[in-house]
Amino acid sequence: MELKNNSYQIQGVKLLDVVKEFDSPVYVYDADKIITQLQSLKNAFSDRKIRIKYAAKALTNISILKLMKQQGIGVDVVSIQEAQMALKAGFKPQDILFTPNCVSFDEIQEGVEMGLVINIDNISILEQFGHKYHNKVPCCVRLNPHIMAGGNTKISTGHVDSKFGISIYQLPHLLRVVKTNNIEVVGLHMHTGSDILDAEIFLKIAEILFGVARDFPNLQFIDFGSGFKVGYKQGDITTNVYDLGVKLGKAFDTFCESYGRKLEMWFEPGKYLVSEAGYFLVRSNVIKTTPATVFVGVDSGMNHLMRPMMYDAYHEIMNVSNPKGTQRVYSIVGYICETDSFGWDRKLNEVREGDILAIKNAGAYGFSMASNYNSRFRPAEVMIYKGKAHLIRERETMDDLLKNQVVIDL
Ligand SMILES: *Cc1c(COP(=O)(O)O)cnc(C)c1O
Repeated sequence: MELKNNSYQIQGVKLLDVVKEFDSPVYVYDADKIITQLQSLKNAFSDRKIRIKYAAKALTNISILKLMKQQGIGVDVVSIQEAQMALKAGFKPQDILFTPNCVSFDEIQEGVEMGLVINIDNISILEQFGHKYHNKVPCCVRLNPHIMAGGNTKISTGHVDSKFGISIYQLPHLLRVVKTNNIEVVGLHMHTGSDILDAEIFLKIAEILFGVARDFPNLQFIDFGSGFKVGYKQGDITTNVYDLGVKLGKAFDTFCESYGRKLEMWFEPGKYLVSEAGYFLVRSNVIKTTPATVFVGVDSGMNHLMRPMMYDAYHEIMNVSNPKGTQRVYSIVGYICETDSFGWDRKLNEVREGDILAIKNAGAYGFSMASNYNSRFRPAEVMIYKGKAHLIRERETMDDLLKNQVVIDL
């Protein structure tokens, strides 16, 4: 996004024009930004061919998935429905990695029938998988390295209390299950959480994976998951993917030599690809001065963007309607009957009732976590692609809210 002639624009499309055309609140995604993020990740590993599986849950719109497909990458899904969405977007089943957590074996079987690559995250399911498929269907195994990584315990998934993955300490048991059932393990996987800062943590995880890998002779790939950190506010440290590319790339080459074969290196970024590409545009409904602060009440809330309330996530907020206005301090809150604050004590160019605010980093876990709480409609989504604004999801209507309700006679 850039400020040009006193108006904020993406690829030459004015954000205020997007609101004029599609109304507010509206999610806006910059396709170019997604593509440059993808490119920088690929460049970081230069000549090593990495496979990228976009974590669909970050932003699951089919047009976004189509963009990923167009860029030649695969996709990581956590439910059968996400897999179906990916198929609709044109992905082939073999390019879809199915990484569910705590699902029943029925759902795993469905994944097998669809032809997905199956990633198994507990021994009970692995046993059932072995009994049913033996070596007829290859699979990947999700391990838990017990490394505390990521911003906090809510988004860290690899620590000792985490429900994700098969504990690295269960390796002997895991190997027995694999051997007795003749299971063909073609991939090892770790995803230790969101917002892992530096290459060193990845390297630590990698060393653990490499150690385990020697016990699995049929591997085709090692999946390092995600955890790439993006900047949410000015001055935030972000994952240096080039640093990671150099260090992890080298370690991987050394490992492959001792393993005796070249394996594929997989990653599953969600946030890294789509977070910064997204802007959530909301309208200031009311300016409300209290003894404590000046509130800006907007036409949205935790129903549309949950991260500030759920994770205490910091999202930068700016006034799109008044770029030159005097800066004043505000607290930006939603219209939901809960304490749904988007941000406290933020400096914004003077906000007037009716102004449009942009909440940044809204591409990842924004719309995909939205709900109908307070019987509000979920917002529209727009993708700016090749200099043009495309509606990629219509705003909901009353019909959507009533759709599955069964009204009985009383
Ligand atoms: C959520 C998830 C990701 C993506 O994480 P980000 O922090 O958005 O990059 C990757 N892999 C798995 C298995 C996930 O559940």
